[in-house]
Amino acid sequence: MPVLSLVIPFLNERAGAERLGDFLRRLEQEIGTRFGLSLEVVLVDDGSRDDSIPQYRRHLTGNWKIAELSRNFGKEIAIFAGLEQTTGDYVMMIDADLQHPYDVCLQLIGELTADPTLDVVYTVRDDRKQESFKKDMGSRLFYWLINFQQRYTVPENAGDFRIMRRAVRDALLTVRDKRRFNKGLYAWTGFRQKGIPYTPDERLDSVSRWSRLALIGLSVEGITSFSVIPLRIFSILGAFTGICGVIYGLKILLEVMFYGVSVPGYPSLMVAVAVFGGFNLALLGLIGEYLWVGVSEAKNRPLYILRGIHTPDEEQHKP
Ligand code: UDP
Ligand code: MG
Repeated sequence: MPVLSLVIPFLNERAGAERLGDFLRRLEQEIGTRFGLSLEVVLVDDGSRDDSIPQYRRHLTGNWKIAELSRNFGKEIAIFAGLEQTTGDYVMMIDADLQHPYDVCLQLIGELTADPTLDVVYTVRDDRKQESFKKDMGSRLFYWLINFQQRYTVPENAGDFRIMRRAVRDALLTVRDKRRFNKGLYAWTGFRQKGIPYTPDERLDSVSRWSRLALIGLSVEGITSFSVIPLRIFSILGAFTGICGVIYGLKILLEVMFYGVSVPGYPSLMVAVAVFGGFNLALLGLIGEYLWVGVSEAKNRPLYILRGIHTPDEEQHKP
């Protein structure tokens, strides 16, 4: 019987444990009869501070397990840790907060198992209507930056909620990026992919585990590990302002030599100092971001550390 592995990262999600248990039992039943698949579940505890682990452990059966990370490593890394534990022919990622509707999960499984020419079926979130214009512009700019002049396209609003064949999971695991940006990696690995739209359900406790700052951090990670365009823009901008400065300088020189105009000093000087100083600082910060990516990779630390694996029978055994 082919196996479907589910990877589910969670951080302080004790409130949803009961619902997730029901969800998993129902899914196991239905994919068995409809698609002839058996279910393997890999939950990943991403450093929860509440009693999520015992709450979730009550729902483990068979070869289901919880991989407990030694601290919070972030969802991107938690998913990587989960992928390493999977053994299935198909691998699907869902969130523990069950914002990913049951029917869409079935649809994903149905589409991939029915079509041998496909390797990945991903979902595209279509809840953008509620979001502000400002945020929308920000996200446009973001996708434009990471997709500019690339040989692959990162689709907008396509997240971790997706199903893939084992070969794709293997490919993702060969990528050892420390600063991980999954959305980019999914596109980078290639394969035959298909997107389907979906609308996420409401979150049970309506508090996203991502703060706005964490989201900005993830975007910077995405850009610095997938695009060199910001650096290039600054190089061009720097060259352009430099040339303007030279032309302006020549103009002043000619005026002094041939027309005896006294050099207009202070205001133009201040403008130049502010503009060049600002550009310089911004570019230094940007170079620092890229440098930090390089340093993180060079340090070559492991991506995550396991505290242990929880299975239904054993309380806990160290890996
Ligand atoms: N999550 C995680 N580690 C983190 C942040 C989030 O494992 O550092 C999990 C979280 O428990 C949930 C999933 O990732 O299962 C998605 O998080 P959330 O629902 O807060 O994100 P959103 O739905 O707002 O994108
Ligand atoms: Mg959520």
